[in-house]
Amino acid sequence: METIYDVIVAGAGPAGSSCARAAAASGLSVLVLEKDTFPRLKPCAGGLTSGVDPELLAEIEPVVHDRVTVVEVDFGPGSTLVWEGGGTIVRTTIREELDALLAELAASAGARIEYGLRVELIEPDNEGVSVVAGGSSWRGRHLVGADGVEGTVGRRWGRARLACGGAIYVRAYPDASGRLEPYRGRILFDLRTRRRGYGWVFPKRDHLNVGVYGRPSTGRRLKDELRSLLESLGLSSWRIDGPFAFPVAARTDARDVASGRILLVGDAAGLTDPITGEGIPHAIASGRAAAESIVASLESSDPAAPLYARRVAREILPRINALRRAGSLYYALGPRVTGTIARSRIARRLVGGRRVNGGSAGNGGRVVVRDAPSHRRQ
Ligand SMILES: Cc1cc2nc3c(=O)[nH]c(=O)nc-3n(C[C@H](O)[C@H](O)[C@H](O)COP(=O)(O)OP(=O)(O)OC[C@H]3O[C@@H](n4cnc5c(N)ncnc54)[C@H](O)[C@@H]3O)c2cc1C
Repeated sequence: METIYDVIVAGAGPAGSSCARAAAASGLSVLVLEKDTFPRLKPCAGGLTSGVDPELLAEIEPVVHDRVTVVEVDFGPGSTLVWEGGGTIVRTTIREELDALLAELAASAGARIEYGLRVELIEPDNEGVSVVAGGSSWRGRHLVGADGVEGTVGRRWGRARLACGGAIYVRAYPDASGRLEPYRGRILFDLRTRRRGYGWVFPKRDHLNVGVYGRPSTGRRLKDELRSLLESLGLSSWRIDGPFAFPVAARTDARDVASGRILLVGDAAGLTDPITGEGIPHAIASGRAAAESIVASLESSDPAAPLYARRVAREILPRINALRRAGSLYYALGPRVTGTIARSRIARRLVGGRRVNGGSAGNGGRVVVRDAPSHRRQ
């Protein structure tokens, strides 16, 4: 007799594994269908902000590569805004390691994970969803689309209103020992790179993740911008792995995030910050919210889709939309004007040596303006 799972999850990224773990921990039968075998590379800068909750941050400690306490924002000559956090602002990791760990946690909670099976066909009806993956058929009471920005489920359902941007990056391995030291414990955002986006440098154990994010964008333009960023940082002689590129999709409202027995989470739902491209915390939060909505639905017989859509609107979209508004102001002014403001005596007096309380990472710290990012001052 065919097994009917309470939940079938398409995709074992952070959204899918978080959903599978929460659902399995609540006693539901869960099947995860993942097209790749793990560990696998997922294009990402691997920065984890405190948008990820503290218990999970403690669990993923083994895959943390660096703890960032200083964020530098380079507006161009003469103006680098430096946030010296009161503690860890961002943790860095690589997705091969993070995603394998999150999938293991889901399996330990009782989820069945099948790797190397791509979800190809989906047929929903009133009672559930039939799924074809890797030539086999599976049946679930609910299907959670956690298959990312280019996944089958996300594309088939509710992707009409998503705005798209793009990101490209390389892994840069030092050409001599000690060359990573100036980058340890700090990340750099380079706002000179483009008008609607930014460049970044994130430190990892043995390399730097250097990339460019922008909206809207073409692959070729991002590639050129990445090349000039590497040159301006003096990294052209390092061993370069990549580039790796991937689209970023973002939504503004919760319409189409779920319908019938199908719920979309993480990138498949477009739950990404449209200004920074950050998506892992939203993927984890939406995965859990989907699992909890399904649990509530099975207990009450209220449909899961509206329960989940309400949680997305209430708990996830406000943060995304607040950042969108702040970012729109920066984009409207452009890097040149923002840089001029940052360089101005008034701005220096306003932020110079200022202590900040809280902030998005929940840390205190100090914001100062310097002439150049730390690694260019060596
Ligand atoms: C270059 C770049 C840099 C980024 N940097 C950051 C960052 O520093 N911090 C941050 O928070 N966010 C970052 N993001 C965003 C972040 O990567 C995503 O928001 C996050 O990966 C979303 O997780 P997810 O689980 O929804 O999707 P994904 O991580 O994309 O996982 C989807 C999974 O589904 C699988 N899959 C796809 N199709 C199918 C199918 N048909 N059947 C079965 N399985 C399928 C895939 O193999 C994959 O394992 C970045 C994005 C890009 C492109």
